Amino acid sequence: MPTELLQLTLDELRQLAAQWGEPAYRGNQLYHALYVEHRRQFEQMTNLPLSIRQRLAGEATITLPEIAARYVSADGAIRYLLRLADGKTIETVWMPESNRQTLCLSTQAGCAVDCHFCATAQLGLLRNLTAGEIVGQVLVVLDDHRDTLRPRTNVVLMGQGEPLLNYDVTLRAVRLLADPAGMNIPLRRITLSTSGIVPGIRRLAGEVVRPKLAVSLNATTDEQRSALMPINRKYPIAELLAACRDYPLRPWERLTFEYVMLGGTNDSPEDARRLAGLIGGLRAKINLIPWNAVPDQPYRAPTEDALDTFQRLLREAGCLAFIRRSRGQDVFAACGQLALLELPAGPD
Ligand code: SAH
Ligand code: SF4
Repeated sequence: MPTELLQLTLDELRQLAAQWGEPAYRGNQLYHALYVEHRRQFEQMTNLPLSIRQRLAGEATITLPEIAARYVSADGAIRYLLRLADGKTIETVWMPESNRQTLCLSTQAGCAVDCHFCATAQLGLLRNLTAGEIVGQVLVVLDDHRDTLRPRTNVVLMGQGEPLLNYDVTLRAVRLLADPAGMNIPLRRITLSTSGIVPGIRRLAGEVVRPKLAVSLNATTDEQRSALMPINRKYPIAELLAACRDYPLRPWERLTFEYVMLGGTNDSPEDARRLAGLIGGLRAKINLIPWNAVPDQPYRAPTEDALDTFQRLLREAGCLAFIRRSRGQDVFAACGQLALLELPAGPD
């Protein structure tokens, strides 16, 4: 079996070089070619001697996802349908802004968590991604915009899947993304969003290299949350918030709570007051995400009035609260809409 390089850390590439009887610094050169220069062909790795390039061509592979389709939103966001080596497809979303781009990555193909308001849930879990498939999404999509890149890149692990149920792989990918000697995306520009997998949050708390944490709270009582997110029966609100209270925030950091606003379900003034009570005392901000339509689901978006009142009540209670309108709704690229939908418009 050839060795798949795109998932190996700098140390592992140095070890590989040593195993091949080469000086370890050849591993650094290979790492640079892969993650800084974005080389995909060994013959282009001109920082390495020909003999090593030839050996790599015979004994190693660099497998990137393939762009199966691009769906371009009127607001500039692009939903990428990416095909993996085994033929499965996943989605990555590109969101350009004036001085930066944000990439929304998948960590699993599909998702097992089964939140009732989310389209990805309808896929079920197809499989975990590998670390190479997670960083590969960044390499492929950045390269697709190589001539127009903004100076900063943000990454959100908020695409298909529950990152903390693919924990080791996701953390390996985060280390690769954040490594200053490689892809160099600072940790404060990488955010992991979880549906509230308490053991995962507690484990993350102990990591030296860790992204920012966002928690999808989405409801204010156990009854309501369990009805929307069955995972709440396993990890109820009190346990989830206890893990959040214990979470060691870095000096520059706040927790983010996401709250999908479902009209008539969880958007009442009482919900707003309960939410303020639940997270009061935490160094946190709340992102209110108006529900994005998913076919055949019994929900509706909140009214503008309900949204504004909800935000105002949170602010009056001393919470930092923002309304986050998702981008790319017209091409099913918005939060909760990633379900591999193929539209007649693509591929372009
Ligand atoms: N699995 C992780 C990350 C992916 S989901 C998680 O659940 O946190 C990213 C965000 O989209 C979550 O906050 C989720 O609550 C939200 N979301 C899911 N379906 C949505 C929908 N239909 N409209 C708006 N937000 C949605
Ligand atoms: Fe999975 Fe997140 Fe969707 Fe829930 S909201 S089903 S955890 S992707």
